[in-house]
Amino acid sequence: MKVKVGLGFDSHEFEEGKTLYLGGLKIDFPYGLRGHSDGDVLLHAVTDAILGALGEPDIGELFSDKDERWKGASSRLFLEEALRRVRDKGYEIFNLDCVLIADEPKVSPHKSAIKESLSKLLGIPSENISIKGKRREGFCEAKGMACMCVVLLGKLDEG
Ligand SMILES: [Zn+2]
Repeated sequence: MKVKVGLGFDSHEFEEGKTLYLGGLKIDFPYGLRGHSDGDVLLHAVTDAILGALGEPDIGELFSDKDERWKGASSRLFLEEALRRVRDKGYEIFNLDCVLIADEPKVSPHKSAIKESLSKLLGIPSENISIKGKRREGFCEAKGMACMCVVLLGKLDEG
């Protein structure tokens, strides 16, 4: 058995009137997250964790914010590319643990829907996914959201 662990972190500022996406799920909230793409902070952190576990270039190297192709792009595209690289190397995702850092929106009412969305996007059972919401408790100014996560990839040894 071979295993690889990856760490992902991302943060985005709020932008009024933009649609908020978390884990590929549309969340009803007056602010979205500023960014070149749809600003899905959770999918960006997950994508980077997967790419990091594989030792591949990170999300910023693969999908430059200077590249017009990714302007307003769905972050699902970035995740799909990372998943393609997982399959190419013969690995599968064992589990994923994420912390969403935000004072608002509250994560808890959306937790199970976000897990369900990630489960579909990643093709793994939702019991192998953990989403935790954390308030800042006074740390930094509340102008956006951040996310960190760890992912474990594994494969059986050949031969
Ligand atoms: Zn991002």
